[in-house]
Amino acid sequence: MTASTPLNPALTTWTGHEGLPRFDLVKDTDFAPAFEAAFKAHEAEIDEIAANHEAPTFDNTVIALEIAGDALSRISSIFWNKAGADTNETIQALERDIAPKMSRHYSKIGMNAALFKRIDTLWENRDSLGLDLEATRVLERHWKGFVKSGAKLAKDDQERLAAINETLAGLGAKFGQNVLADEKSWALFLQSEEDLAGVPDFLRDAMAAAASDRGEKGKYAVTLSRSIIEPFLTFSDNRELREKAFRAWIARGENGGETDNRGLIAETLALRAEKAKLLGYANYAALKLDNTMAKTPEAVNGLLMQVWEKAAARAREEEADLAKLVAAEGRNHDVMPWDWRHYAEKLRAEKFNFSEGELKPYLQLEKIIDACFDVAQRLFGITATEKKGIAGYHPDVRVFEIRDAGGKLVALFLGDYFARSSKRSGAWMSAFQSQHKLTLKNGAVGELPIIYNVCNFAKPAEGKPALLSLDDARTLFHEFGHALHGMLSNVTYPSVSGTGVSRDFVELPSQLYEHWLTVPDILKRYAVHYQTGEPMPEALLDKVLAARTFNSGFATVEFTSSALVDMAYHTAETQSEPMALEAATLEKIGMPQSIVMRHRSPHFLHVFSGDGYSAGYYSYMWSEVLDADAFAAFEETGNPFDPGMAQKLKDNVYSVGGSIDPEDAYKGFRGKLPSPDAMLAKKGLAA
Ligand SMILES: [Zn+2]
Repeated sequence: MTASTPLNPALTTWTGHEGLPRFDLVKDTDFAPAFEAAFKAHEAEIDEIAANHEAPTFDNTVIALEIAGDALSRISSIFWNKAGADTNETIQALERDIAPKMSRHYSKIGMNAALFKRIDTLWENRDSLGLDLEATRVLERHWKGFVKSGAKLAKDDQERLAAINETLAGLGAKFGQNVLADEKSWALFLQSEEDLAGVPDFLRDAMAAAASDRGEKGKYAVTLSRSIIEPFLTFSDNRELREKAFRAWIARGENGGETDNRGLIAETLALRAEKAKLLGYANYAALKLDNTMAKTPEAVNGLLMQVWEKAAARAREEEADLAKLVAAEGRNHDVMPWDWRHYAEKLRAEKFNFSEGELKPYLQLEKIIDACFDVAQRLFGITATEKKGIAGYHPDVRVFEIRDAGGKLVALFLGDYFARSSKRSGAWMSAFQSQHKLTLKNGAVGELPIIYNVCNFAKPAEGKPALLSLDDARTLFHEFGHALHGMLSNVTYPSVSGTGVSRDFVELPSQLYEHWLTVPDILKRYAVHYQTGEPMPEALLDKVLAARTFNSGFATVEFTSSALVDMAYHTAETQSEPMALEAATLEKIGMPQSIVMRHRSPHFLHVFSGDGYSAGYYSYMWSEVLDADAFAAFEETGNPFDPGMAQKLKDNVYSVGGSIDPEDAYKGFRGKLPSPDAMLAKKGLAA
């Protein structure tokens, strides 16, 4: 950066309402020079900490690291918010440029030998430093971070580790691209009414659009995208076509030639195993599970197998029900994977006769937001007040002040609810600023959490209320649960604030919060018809809730088999033939022939297209165990808003971030570790 490029102070000094950034003063062209300057500033701070001639202390090393990089984190938080929620070509180009720079910046810090020496000295002497539990965990986190980046290794091992990481990143990217290529290259073009038998209008429309995208106007395409293949398998009456499409779907990444992923899997697993050995772990699963709530592969497999037995038994019953429908149609064949969805839909329609559309008039966005806030007040004593006229990062963004029972401001909350073309799909929570209590370099003590939720609900026509599906309403509660985790945070150090917890614990506050949406008292008050104001009829609601456990044997078998194969790969003694290991694992657990893994290995993106969910696919279910068990604690009191239980929940879960071990946090709330019973009951799989 040259002296002639002025830096925009609005990126780093936030002077809006209660310290909100002045988004209206930020231009897209401000980011590039600001990032350059912030990287340099952070680097200088790191060098200063590392080169300190005084002996390392917790203050001059760990706390110094915790508060370093303030400008970088402010610029990043504004930039990544924009990249996700309101992007454009300038931002996208910048993203491609900044992402690798960011990763280089942090890996350089991770390999700073002088800095690690200071951290290592502190870690070795941790018992004599007089640290409290939170400070000890913060030190441990920094130390482990360095160790996992290879800081303790000899020079040539460090080089080997760097080479492995780089190769793995390339393999992951190729894996994902291969799956995409196989999805793109396959399509089944249909035309005759015989081929389209059973296909409903919404699916015909989507298939017609897909065909014309592929230059086959006037035809209907079955493609391998989940939004077409799943409804096709569900509704098509043509068994031969269902089989053909299904076989193509589960063969993604396994078709031979350029895009075949089987070789990449073998290479990836071998490198991951080598990396784990280098870093002193028995296997890659042990490396990944260190720092999680589950802690060990044994704990994960224990849960998965316990669920597996019940799910497999239920799936066999479900299969028998479907077989009766097959026979009733005068057909003489087993229920195969390309039949399951089709007959399950017939059974569902027979048993639960309602459509999603009947619910919508009762689920107004405004009322569901109110419900979200009301639950938070009844559980945690906080109130939300909308502040109109304050500029968010987009005109649709709404700003709320969150205050505690005494009226003290505890957080700012931004809600960004509607879909737009500049926003990526999905829903998420993030923070512009995280809560902590340290004194910053500018003398300020602690910071207020500034948290936001982004959703993708359909924007209504002018003057019409926004109506949600039940899934949408659940999503709103889910993301607000994450937001509460950030807003109720009450810790000292920024790195353990709010959602700074392990992957298998972070969904507890969000999934748990979903339970309060369907508490009768909340529905009665907030799920009211947008025209008549009448509450949702109880009979309708009962049907909706009962339908939730339908076909859960199938869904749980699909999920659990994938999670078990993920664990088998990352705990295997030797890395032989991955596809043989997949087959052997399924054989061992007795996978029914009528169901296929939700993600077969050659297209298991969670596990092979990046490192995020390797030896971690289980964590979705782990969190479900936690949230079901946690809500059962309230049900056991007979009051979904039991004040004593709510206080314990706040004190041990929503306010502690990562400042205590997740297992201890949970025990502090519940008095014991969770059992899967409540989750099994919720899925209708209890004994
Ligand atoms: Zn979540």
